Amino acid sequence: MTDATKTYTGGCHCGAIRYSVDLDLSKPEATKCNCSICLKTNRLSLSIQPTQLKLVSPASLSDIPEYQFGSKSQHHRFCDKCGIHVFGGGSYVWEGKEVKNFDVNAVTLDQDQGVDLRKFKVGYWDGKTEGWAKGMSEGPYEGGTF
Ligand SMILES: [Zn+2]
Repeated sequence: MTDATKTYTGGCHCGAIRYSVDLDLSKPEATKCNCSICLKTNRLSLSIQPTQLKLVSPASLSDIPEYQFGSKSQHHRFCDKCGIHVFGGGSYVWEGKEVKNFDVNAVTLDQDQGVDLRKFKVGYWDGKTEGWAKGMSEGPYEGGTF
């Protein structure tokens, strides 16, 4: 939380899923990834703490369908009416430690509150080869997209 932190609203396309999220978008940064799920959802990820997000609708996170695959360590939440991927999270192991992660799909933020996605600096991960140690790149790794 910073002085520039504001509460933004967002949701899926049909409005069944609505949320608010506390973000500092004074120097907005987001990530994209070339892994199988990030590529096909073409998500623009904003990494947050789960406590920054407040679900407005539906009442409970468990009322939102999730997609899981592989190790099932990630919960990819999406709207089963309009198909939009809104957010997700879970945990992964990094250097022997469990790390919790949660991200909001930045393209689901409402635009009419000063959100300008053109201003987001995007960093690119190489999830396809699990090349996390390579760090973020200024452009997509092989198999990824801008
Ligand atoms: Zn929807």
